[in-house]
Amino acid sequence: MESSLVDRFGRVIKDLRISITPRCNYKCSYCDPLGIIQKDPVGTVTVADIDNVLAAAVELGIESLRFTGGEPLLRQELPEMIALAKQVYKIEDVAITTNASLLKRRLPDLLKAGLDRVNISFDASNPEVFKKITSGGNIKQVWEGIDAVVAAGLQPVKLNAVIMKDVNDSEIIGLAELSRELPYHIRFIEYMHLNNSDSDSYFKHFVAGKDIKAKIEAKFGQLEKIDNDPSAPARLFKVKTWAGAIGFINPVSEPFCGACSRMRLTSDAKLRPCLLTDREISVREALDSKKPVEAVIEMFLLAAHRKVKSGITVPTNRPRTMVSIGG
Ligand code: SAM
Repeated sequence: MESSLVDRFGRVIKDLRISITPRCNYKCSYCDPLGIIQKDPVGTVTVADIDNVLAAAVELGIESLRFTGGEPLLRQELPEMIALAKQVYKIEDVAITTNASLLKRRLPDLLKAGLDRVNISFDASNPEVFKKITSGGNIKQVWEGIDAVVAAGLQPVKLNAVIMKDVNDSEIIGLAELSRELPYHIRFIEYMHLNNSDSDSYFKHFVAGKDIKAKIEAKFGQLEKIDNDPSAPARLFKVKTWAGAIGFINPVSEPFCGACSRMRLTSDAKLRPCLLTDREISVREALDSKKPVEAVIEMFLLAAHRKVKSGITVPTNRPRTMVSIGG
């Protein structure tokens, strides 16, 4: 279907990211976890809410969907949500973003529901650095999750690394090298100020994508550009003879707002038109109304209208941090 969700700047919104929980079992400092909340707060989106949101979204031409969090695998109902997206609403591309710690166990049910793709956060290949950056994460479990995804043939497997100076910049070469033998997409993400860290600390840890690329090229030679969807956030490259790709997502040094095709729904049922702007529109009332799909469509249209031209990348105090926005 032709998308009818177009913002004031002519950008067509076709990608929806839905956070289904603010909880996470990892505590990465760049994401600012809320601590270990055992239960999702009252008002967290239910399967019925997701059903209504998806009905509205497909009516407006959404083609691609990503469930995220928090950690989406902490929600037992994730397979039901994926089944709605794939089997009922026939959304072309349905993915999850996960830390993969629980993926090996949960993947069979997700595949049965129709999951197309998985994006995995993977900030270090050294087990000790990995443990430190995730505050206790076990890299072995994550590798088991990655291996399960590869064995299931889901392509491409995207591994995302947020690089922070003096935290995991020592991992750049090792991470890039993972794309040598297997067709992984190793994507380096610039650290955004979405954790309410103090600005001195933020600038101390920030590493520009061009510096990450230069470090990789100094070791492996000039990278070759790969053409990909211009609305996708990553610019893709590869080392000529390697199986996989190396991507750079540079929202701070090279903002790509002009090509933005995304809208987010937070786990407390708020549409967030721009990741880097705190403006949000609650759809709770619409979801609880007598004609929820029609009412949610209205909210999507309003949110698209309120999408700003470009987001705020400089440090600023935000009402909520990345873990509860949904990446
Ligand atoms: N728990 C899941 C995971 O680990 O992938 C999904 C949620 S996490 C918020 C989604 C994505 O946001 C991850 O790829 C993570 O690296 C990214 N992210 C979180 N905080 C970030 C920040 N301050 N700057 C850049 N990317 C960030």
